[in-house]
Amino acid sequence: MSGTGTTPTPDGTPDRAPIPARPVIVVGSGPTGLLLAGDLAAANVPVTVVERRPHGISNLSRAFGVHARTLEQLDARGLAEPLLATGSTITELRLFRRLSLDLGTLPSRFPYLLITPQYEVERLLEERARELGVEFLFQHEVVGLRQDSEGVDLDVRVPDGTVVTRRAAYVVGTDGHRSAVRRAVGLPFPGVSVIKSLFLADVRLAERPPGVLTVNGAGDSFAMIASFGDGWYRVMGWNRRHEVPDDAPLELDEVKEVARRALGTDYGMHDARWLSRFHSDERQAPEYRVGRVFLAGDAAHVHSPAGGQGMNTGLQDAANLGWKLAAAVQGRAPEGLLDTYQTERHPVGKAVLRSSGGLVRLARATNPALRAVRALVTVVLNAVRPAGAKALARISGIGYAYPAPRGAHRLTGTRVPDVALRSGRLYEALRGGRFVLITPEPYDVEGARKGWLTAERWASESRRTAMLVRPDGYVAWAAESAGPAEIESALAAHSG
Ligand SMILES: Cc1cc2nc3c(=O)[nH]c(=O)nc-3n(C[C@H](O)[C@H](O)[C@H](O)COP(=O)(O)OP(=O)(O)OC[C@H]3O[C@@H](n4cnc5c(N)ncnc54)[C@H](O)[C@@H]3O)c2cc1C
Repeated sequence: MSGTGTTPTPDGTPDRAPIPARPVIVVGSGPTGLLLAGDLAAANVPVTVVERRPHGISNLSRAFGVHARTLEQLDARGLAEPLLATGSTITELRLFRRLSLDLGTLPSRFPYLLITPQYEVERLLEERARELGVEFLFQHEVVGLRQDSEGVDLDVRVPDGTVVTRRAAYVVGTDGHRSAVRRAVGLPFPGVSVIKSLFLADVRLAERPPGVLTVNGAGDSFAMIASFGDGWYRVMGWNRRHEVPDDAPLELDEVKEVARRALGTDYGMHDARWLSRFHSDERQAPEYRVGRVFLAGDAAHVHSPAGGQGMNTGLQDAANLGWKLAAAVQGRAPEGLLDTYQTERHPVGKAVLRSSGGLVRLARATNPALRAVRALVTVVLNAVRPAGAKALARISGIGYAYPAPRGAHRLTGTRVPDVALRSGRLYEALRGGRFVLITPEPYDVEGARKGWLTAERWASESRRTAMLVRPDGYVAWAAESAGPAEIESALAAHSG
């Protein structure tokens, strides 16, 4: 094992002898950590994932919806097609009884929501990470850390119960909502509990529901049934008259009763393979970075399951951070690049918290004022096209843009769709994990730039914009009719 730490002292505390640093250690092998570790390895950055679970013991499959922007990110890693093969897609998103959003209108290669269990996303991401050489340490639990100006010492409890220190230049905490990394750097996780008592069940059904996703609320009950496409269905719901702690026993009969009240039928639920209670918090760390330590995914933000945003937002965090960390490790990050992780991703986390929390409050509305707001939201989103399109763009993740420097081209910071190139399409060109420069005329990439830059040309002769696309598919720089000198200076500004 490279970078293995020191032997513990007899009292169990690690000694502090110098040890070789691993460039990056990722703590937690949920979807966020797996995507991040794979991206770092793809950029030739040696990376270790430390995970407290034993290998093969699944992270409980919580998420089941994969949105358009996440599918685009997976496409940029060659994983969208295999993931699509594991589930079913839906083009209509029903939020309240009368509110329906048409995902088919999304300006994306993936104009739908993919319903597939979270473990399928994790399986593909782990396979990719392993193929790229990521080192995995299962049954290793992070219990503390210290950092100095050159690195981070991570205290890790290994399978025999002793604690060893592993050193890394950077550490990323993707260790979920109870993040030990977040606690170790002293960050609070302020917020509130938004739904006190929900249940989850994975069941088989005697009778098929009308669609891939069936949702309704009636009185105090709410239920949602999603088809995984393989004969198993995920049921999620609540009964506001029966709010109990997460560890209270749950029987299938309770799930069936709530479904009957909310949906009019329980579709003959049987053979539950998983029954679980949980509650839903709305929390966000004020900082996503403390020195050499970063937070991503649920470690940085948690929100209500409404809109299916948690895993999707975590994967976008990882896609944003991976190439920046790789550039820092390889000494080609421009000044301030690592700070843009906070300035770009924290506002998105905040917006997701606000929108998913708003949806849940409206869905659970009992007082007349909130019910009136819900009716108004329903009318506006159904009837006013731009409002509906904006809501869809946010939910699907394609509507977010990052802040651009003053005076920058209007496209700077925006998401680039899957545009046609002479050699193919953009999200195929992004599979190298490099920046993509798209120009009207040929541009030769020379020397060290080959390591981080691919040059492409627009398929359309009429496009005169020169555009530098970041590895995560956002515009780093753009200019109209730029000459070679202007392009050169943009490339220099983005390579440190
Ligand atoms: C009912 C429900 C439905 C949901 N539906 C959706 C949905 O449809 N779409 C969506 O996008 N999201 C959804 N989510 C949210 C989604 O499941 C989470 O946001 C997602 O799992 C977060 O991924 P993560 O990698 O950040 O963290 P996690 O998946 O929590 O992974 C963290 C990992 O870190 C490990 N770990 C923890 N502590 C340590 C430690 N000290 N040392 C080492 N390892 C450690 C854990 O074992 C775990 O493997 C849902 C959640 C719930 C509860």
